[in-house]
Amino acid sequence: MKSLDRYAVFGHPIKHTKSPRIHRIFAEQTGQDLEYTAQEVTVEQFQAAVARFFAEGGKGLNCTLPLKELAWAFADHKTERAQLSKAVNTLALQADGSILGDNTDGHGLVTDLTSNHSITLSDTRILILGAGGAARGIIAPILQQAPQALLIANRTINKAVTLAAEFHGKGSISGCGFEALANRQFDLILNATSASLSGQLPLLPSGLLAAGGNCYDLAYGNEPTAFVRWGWQNHAKNSLDGLGMLVEQAAEAFFIWRGVRPKTQAVIELLNSERQV
Ligand code: NAP
Repeated sequence: MKSLDRYAVFGHPIKHTKSPRIHRIFAEQTGQDLEYTAQEVTVEQFQAAVARFFAEGGKGLNCTLPLKELAWAFADHKTERAQLSKAVNTLALQADGSILGDNTDGHGLVTDLTSNHSITLSDTRILILGAGGAARGIIAPILQQAPQALLIANRTINKAVTLAAEFHGKGSISGCGFEALANRQFDLILNATSASLSGQLPLLPSGLLAAGGNCYDLAYGNEPTAFVRWGWQNHAKNSLDGLGMLVEQAAEAFFIWRGVRPKTQAVIELLNSERQV
């Protein structure tokens, strides 16, 4: 009997990951025979664990915190968006035995914003809070949408300025600290800090969100995040969290591995319904 094609997500911690569930639903929906598991893998274990996974016939891997930079270094070759983001969340075995690295996070975010929520990015003023791995992964796909201006604001100012400089020439982009946000206004504010995970928020000036503007927290949880609540308080047209991005980045990884694009709407609705208790 032919064994199932094997996929997995590696991360630390990995206990609460929704990825196996999402990929199993995608597989069922598209009639693909595969298995997808979650494995606790630390930074120290990464190299050996990935090498073993592919040596034993694994076809593809998702890598999540804190392994995305290591996955980037592991890949034999990378897509342009992965190259720019310096982080890889998807590894795919190629026909010649090499390993391709991609980053589907930015695609997932832009698809959720534009396709699922009809939020236009072109010619708008966009603010990203945070300059860590998640921010890095979403910048190129956002710039591809041709916003009027993209500003990155971070607690450690230098990181925002340096990150923006890396994308110089790819669009109107700059970096600053949170203090510099006074008297500025944006049509879309994306929270890519990890502050939400501990219920915290950077101190944001009132009037930061333009009338009719939208808020999006890359983090998600069973309860609305601190930033989603900030969006409500500041009269955002939509104040969303990153559950849709999670499903859309998974769909893009599934497409890279299987060449079939799963439908995401029903999966997002299912996961949403489960947290609205
Ligand atoms: P990271 O690389 O550790 O970066 C964390 C960022 O948050 C840094 O810019 C850091 O600022 C900032 N920060 C942390 N605590 C803060 C606080 N109390 N006040 C202000 N800024 C603070 O993390 P990451 O990988 O970028 O992840 C960021 C978020 O994105 C996480 O919540 C993660 O779950 C989410 N994410 C979601 C998806 C999805 O599919 N929905 C995908 C990827 C990531 P400093 O530089 O000053 O330390």
